[in-house]
Amino acid sequence: MSGVSRPLIVANWKMNGLKTSLAGISTVCAAVRQGAAAECDLVICPPATLIAAAAEICARSPVALGGQSCHDRPRGAHTGDISAEMLRDAGAAFVIVGHSERRADHGETDATTRAKAGAAIRAGLVPIICIGETRAERDEGRALAVLDAQVANSVPSQADLAEVVVAYEPIWAIGAGATPTLGEVTVAHASIRAALSRILPRQGPIARLLYGGSVTASDAAGLAAIENVNGLLVGGASLDCSEFLAITTVYD
Ligand code: PEP
Repeated sequence: MSGVSRPLIVANWKMNGLKTSLAGISTVCAAVRQGAAAECDLVICPPATLIAAAAEICARSPVALGGQSCHDRPRGAHTGDISAEMLRDAGAAFVIVGHSERRADHGETDATTRAKAGAAIRAGLVPIICIGETRAERDEGRALAVLDAQVANSVPSQADLAEVVVAYEPIWAIGAGATPTLGEVTVAHASIRAALSRILPRQGPIARLLYGGSVTASDAAGLAAIENVNGLLVGGASLDCSEFLAITTVYD
């Protein structure tokens, strides 16, 4: 964990079930707020319509809010889109960009991911930049090269970067109940760390590097203990409040 202030655990609720209604999120946010582990930072990323309400419930607590995506422009004729500034105004402090579901569903690329990350920084949000290889790319031995290119092309390199989070999410592991071996995560994170050090300024905070993809309460501790894993991005398991709270205790 050298150089990284505190680990970070992020819940990505996506567009799922009870987590899409105000009634559904109120008790969960209150429970996460109540049970939040002391030794890591926590971020909940609800659907955008619920950020303001969740921010109110989590006010004056260690739990921060994040968006699941943002537009790269601050305003304009972009029907249905949400800017980073709007997320910030609603109470978000973070935003996920470049998630593989955005890349698959909306044709987002490394270039759009970098533009969105830049927009987040402009608005005062911390971007959580997602990268990850496909199963075929891993099987062909190209995973590290793919990750290298994604870091180079998705992460803004401006010198005034205050803080950035990068999440390694192998596409084949997301929602699949399958995770890479601890050895594969170790190698991937060391390689991403090296790629980041080539583009980010030497001064200032060190980027937190998260692992995401089918994390559960039973494998979280092993993943969290890996060098260069500075936290976790949790999808499915974050929908179950007690399982998510169990995951947040890995750093206690
Ligand atoms: C994700 O989609 O960011 C994610 C990590 O999902 P899951 O934990 O369900 O694989």
